[in-house]
Amino acid sequence: MNRVHIKTYGCQMNERDSEAVAALLRTRGYRIVDDENDCDILLLNTCSVRDFAEQKAIAKAENIAVRKRRRPEFVLGILGCMAQNRGAALLDLLPDLDLVVGTQKFHTVAGYLDNLRAARQAGIPLAQPIVDTAEEPGSQNALADHILADRQVTAFVSIQQGCDMQCAYCIVPKTRGDERSRPMDAIVAECRALAARGIREVTLLGQIVTSYGRRDYAHTGGISPFVQLLERIHAVDGIERIRFTSPHPRGFRDDLVAAYARLPKLCEHVHLPVQSGSDRILSAMNRPYSRERYLELVAALRTARPGLALSTDIIVGFPGETDADFAQTAALFAEADYDMAYVFKYSVRTGTPAEPLGDPVDEAEKERRNQELLRLLEENSRRHTAALLGTVQEVLVEGPDKAGRRYMGRTRINRVVHFPGTEEQIGRLIPVRIDRVTPAALYGETVPAQ
Ligand code: SAM
Ligand code: SF4
Repeated sequence: MNRVHIKTYGCQMNERDSEAVAALLRTRGYRIVDDENDCDILLLNTCSVRDFAEQKAIAKAENIAVRKRRRPEFVLGILGCMAQNRGAALLDLLPDLDLVVGTQKFHTVAGYLDNLRAARQAGIPLAQPIVDTAEEPGSQNALADHILADRQVTAFVSIQQGCDMQCAYCIVPKTRGDERSRPMDAIVAECRALAARGIREVTLLGQIVTSYGRRDYAHTGGISPFVQLLERIHAVDGIERIRFTSPHPRGFRDDLVAAYARLPKLCEHVHLPVQSGSDRILSAMNRPYSRERYLELVAALRTARPGLALSTDIIVGFPGETDADFAQTAALFAEADYDMAYVFKYSVRTGTPAEPLGDPVDEAEKERRNQELLRLLEENSRRHTAALLGTVQEVLVEGPDKAGRRYMGRTRINRVVHFPGTEEQIGRLIPVRIDRVTPAALYGETVPAQ
């Protein structure tokens, strides 16, 4: 009765939270299993950013509830953003739920499961399901454990929770709460411990990492707390690569741009969400920068680190977005020359500043705009990929690929490369000459040492 499967929806932050919950459950005697059909406890760690994400998790929970009715001792829980967003109201939709735990209470899951199991074993029915979506000061520090697979070489490290921005479309401030940073010493210690366990690449996670520590640490010599943190992680032996997501264009100041010229472990791939290329829509979205400032930032980054790859998030169909606004977005899209982009169709979220604006751009138009950006993206991606043919790329070797015929790893700009490798290369940075490319991956041969 102690086999737990956690199914995760949404972003890397949710993946990291699920990993931390799993690590905690393991220390409390639970077994974490990969097969959702072979578990006693199923936890859905959910996303609320768009309605579609919520509907997917609800449909899944309804499906599992059918199974639960045949096996009453089965435990079904909803964690994370949708739990926080909807709270006890989820029970009206999903009366079979046992547990609803919000984003500041992940660390309580083990205790609640212990109680549920004890009650079941004693044959005592619980009066009602457990719902805990309270705020908890310091909750950003509650979970720092990792579950690492055998010879894992990359890891996510959460540096911050919540967000104080008020982007008009966004539900994150409601689901994740106020911006709270973890102490720098704790993050650096976590990176050191990860390096000692074989991790070579860390991705620092937060909703707005450029604001990291702004209330807790002073700028020193014009260097922001976030860049101070990067410098300290850069000094950790064993950590060879550093990535982060997501920065905000407003907080992406000169000290961070300059870091790309002086911190070689900082990978030359920046995810820089733009959301729209129209100043009018950026202002309606409450995104405090202009398209000009954004493009200046892109140019500065490319000067600081030639070859830098850029990705972004874009929303199409925000209320009031006209054809002319969208044309600006498409033009910016081409000018910024993105390697990768996540294009989202606007979804109204209850309780956000934009909710009263409704959803005036019709679905067919949103889809047309979405397809146009995807087409531009495909062209860009094909061109960028073709340019890699014949180059030698530094690859961090992760292990055998899924087919088991080759090894795989990632380049500094996060492209997957398949090549004939060896077990000893896992965790090492090796040069690979790219001799074949497909839209999804690169193929190559290792370059012999000179
Ligand atoms: N904190 C990050 C930032 O500031 O860019 C990302 C937060 S959100 C989890 C990820 C992306 O979802 C956003 O960048 C935005 O493009 C998209 N998104 C957020 N709210 C949305 C909405 N209501 N409809 C469509 N897309 C949305
Ligand atoms: Fe949402 Fe804006 Fe905060 Fe990103 S910066 S999480 S889009 S409110």
